[in-house]
Amino acid sequence: MSERTLSLIKPDAVGKNKIGAILSRFEGAGLRVVAAQMLLLSPQRAREFYAVHKERPFYESLVAFMTSGPVMAQVLEGANAVEKNRELMGATDPAQAAPGTIRADFAENVEANAVHGSDSPETARAEIRFFFPDLAE
Ligand code: ATP
Ligand code: MG
Repeated sequence: MSERTLSLIKPDAVGKNKIGAILSRFEGAGLRVVAAQMLLLSPQRAREFYAVHKERPFYESLVAFMTSGPVMAQVLEGANAVEKNRELMGATDPAQAAPGTIRADFAENVEANAVHGSDSPETARAEIRFFFPDLAE
């Protein structure tokens, strides 16, 4: 069954000119980009997006990183899109990420780790609304 997920190319990967290389990974795996927008998050929006981590010691540093430059937000659609995207991304820490994954190939460290992907279909719906409130479901 077709599914949608929210993907972000984070400021480190945008700065390294890797937008096209990363979008190619999604397309090559059969995921379709059905909406996309490049934007600069405000600190308030970044805090809201990562609110689930607000008690973690790295929260303010994460917000500073996520607002350090533009991000590319896209909605990916395809069979098992949430899980497939997480597989393509690899582990949060690039040192732990499997060879050939986006984070293994493009991430700097556990914070500046190239991409975000929704972690469940429920989270995906909320995160898609966060970036694309006008997108029909
Ligand atoms: P994301 O939610 O961005 O897709 P994830 O689900 O793999 O990543 P989370 O545990 O949700 O990982 O952490 C959210 C983000 O917070 C990470 O992607 C990373 O940018 C940052 N982060 C996670 N752990 C650490 C840490 N120990 N130190 C610094 N930053 C961290
Ligand atoms: Mg997460």
